[in-house]
Amino acid sequence: MSKRRRLIAGNWKMNKTTSEARDYAMAFLEKVGDVTDLDMVICAPFTALAVLKEELEESIVHIGAQNMYHEAKGAFTGEISAEMLKDLACTYVILGHSERREYLKEDDELIAKKVKAALEAGLTPILCVGENLTLREAGKALAFVRGQVEKDLVDLQPAELRKVVIAYEPIWAIGTGKTASAEDAQEMCSAIRSTLAGIAGAVAQEIRILYGGSVKPGNIAELVAQPDIDGALVGGASLEASEFAQIIQNAR
Ligand code: PEP
Repeated sequence: MSKRRRLIAGNWKMNKTTSEARDYAMAFLEKVGDVTDLDMVICAPFTALAVLKEELEESIVHIGAQNMYHEAKGAFTGEISAEMLKDLACTYVILGHSERREYLKEDDELIAKKVKAALEAGLTPILCVGENLTLREAGKALAFVRGQVEKDLVDLQPAELRKVVIAYEPIWAIGTGKTASAEDAQEMCSAIRSTLAGIAGAVAQEIRILYGGSVKPGNIAELVAQPDIDGALVGGASLEASEFAQIIQNAR
């Protein structure tokens, strides 16, 4: 039995106005307000964070953002700092999501700076890694993802690494309805843990690794039953409070 506490994180992506966020938060709390045996976090657009702070700050549901910039302040038009997120009661931040890597051209060097800045500010980064279909079919997925982990966590001390959460999200499974089989997901998460052991030693056993990619109420139980999968990052199925709450119940 792992001593790592399970974590289920929702990624709303670019969805929900402030009033939709408020309605969701109220409905969600009614369903999961008594869940204390795992960690829950909702990663919302920046524009919904103030509402989530009002609705969730005093609850057991954590608040997260979907991105941040690594600089503390200054002339970085359109960017958001770690301190700004903390001011909005955020304790988590998704970094390196494949959509940002692809559409916003974020590279490992930038993502590594963001991970470091998040940790220095006391935020928990949820670092996303994962291969595309071409790499998987070429048998290069393990090496590619191991490389991402090494590059994105460069220059971190074991004490800092302990606080990182990794989300393994095969790009071909995101929003496609195709989930990696529990065995394939476990194989990768185990490889990620051995990569972490190479850089952080025994601390690797404390680092939470999530699976993400078309997680639903019907497949979460099998995924979290795997020895190296400590929870999930959920996109589409986190958009309805009742469906996300069902995923949480099925992950317990
Ligand atoms: C995600 O984008 O983080 C994700 C896992 O999306 P989905 O659950 O919709 O595949």
